[in-house]
Amino acid sequence: QWGRVRARLQAEVGEVEYRTWLKQVALAGVDGDEVTLVLPTRFLRDWVKKEYGELVASLWQAENPAIRSVDIRSQPGRGTAPNLAEPVPVEAAPAAVAPVVPRADVAAPLDQRFTFDTFVVGKPNEFAYACARRVAESPATAGFNPLFLYGGVGLGKTHLMHAIAWELSTQHKGGGQVSVAYMSAEKFMYRFINALRSQSTLEFKNELRGVDVLMIDDLQFLIGKDNTQEEFFHTFNALVDAGKQIVVSADKSPSDLSGLDDRLRTRLGCGMVADLHATTFELRISILETKAERAGVDVPGKVLEFLARKITSNVRELEGALNRLVAHANLFNRQITLEAAHEVLHDVLKAHDRKVSIQEIQKKVADHYNIRIAEMSSARRARNIARPRQVAMYLAKQLTSKSLPDIGRHFGDRDHTTVMHAVSRVTELIGQDAAFGEDVELLRRMLEN
Ligand code: ADP
Ligand code: MG
Repeated sequence: QWGRVRARLQAEVGEVEYRTWLKQVALAGVDGDEVTLVLPTRFLRDWVKKEYGELVASLWQAENPAIRSVDIRSQPGRGTAPNLAEPVPVEAAPAAVAPVVPRADVAAPLDQRFTFDTFVVGKPNEFAYACARRVAESPATAGFNPLFLYGGVGLGKTHLMHAIAWELSTQHKGGGQVSVAYMSAEKFMYRFINALRSQSTLEFKNELRGVDVLMIDDLQFLIGKDNTQEEFFHTFNALVDAGKQIVVSADKSPSDLSGLDDRLRTRLGCGMVADLHATTFELRISILETKAERAGVDVPGKVLEFLARKITSNVRELEGALNRLVAHANLFNRQITLEAAHEVLHDVLKAHDRKVSIQEIQKKVADHYNIRIAEMSSARRARNIARPRQVAMYLAKQLTSKSLPDIGRHFGDRDHTTVMHAVSRVTELIGQDAAFGEDVELLRRMLEN
């Protein structure tokens, strides 16, 4: 179980954050409905508890619905370690135990940090944001039901959904509170399977159909899970027919979610479909500024700019990098400077630099030397073609994590020794010819950005 929770955790927070904070979490034991996890130092414990406590708890619960609480401790004996610095003051102090407190019986806990207030709006997400606001203000309005939010990883889908749920759960209707059930599609499936197992599907159905707003996150998870999809489809219809609001997120638009039942896809596309686009540089800067301000730390503009240029794919990773920088500055009582950022984020940036594809490299290099991209894979050995090809191989080795044989395959099925030769030849030339060296360096920098 712990293995699966770990894997999910890693997928959820991304490689970088996982390696920085969560790799050292160990399972101490499971006692009835309580899980105990340990970390080597108090600092790490506090940090993990505060930043990831709820996530860890909800993943455990998804894995094993019997778990009621997850206790995160530091290792006895080593826990007296240096009280070096307080962890970065971002939000409220962590509770001693991260409780698993479902809102309705069927729902998952909400993250307190994910509200409309903390969501930074820019061009790429303003439409989705406006739709979310609208639904939070007046659920089940024609044209906005269902609300379907989609976009890549870490662009704010879950954040917006929680924000809607928070907002709605403070509202009242006809004397009672509006009841909101938020859960991941995965959790929906676990609940459904458990209900089947314990022969309580009727209760499960009734519970879900009794809510005013049902929110299902990461619907793509249901692809290939036909029975669960079917159940969701019925729930969906029952709720919409009863004038209840549905909010769904996924990584693709309804029409691109192949593998999902056609009837369901059609119905999902019937309300409002809003796309969270990839972030722009401006949005990333503004997110970083907001987060730094909230954390009460002064981060020089140059450092923010550096981060926003380097980490472009995913807001979670961007946030993670900033947190890490701030934590280090606190820990060692140092200023946050550009040099510190380079140093502290060395491996993060490397991981990101490595996201360049061989195709991109080939294209850039071909453009630069004014040859056709097809020549990268051709058999021609003329110097004006062979040299750029070698440069591209060299950069592929430097900037991607592909193996030599792998790189060779991208260049017209060449042998790995050819790639090896190219790498050493280019290295040699860089040493001999300054202009050539600058050229390669320029290409590298263009590719890294
Ligand atoms: P998704 O569900 O789309 O994968 P999340 O909603 O989990 O992404 O967002 C990942 C992280 O990035 C969260 O910590 C979230 O608060 C943050 N985030 C994403 N977009 C924004 C934004 N526009 N403003 C502030 N924080 C954001
Ligand atoms: Mg999400």
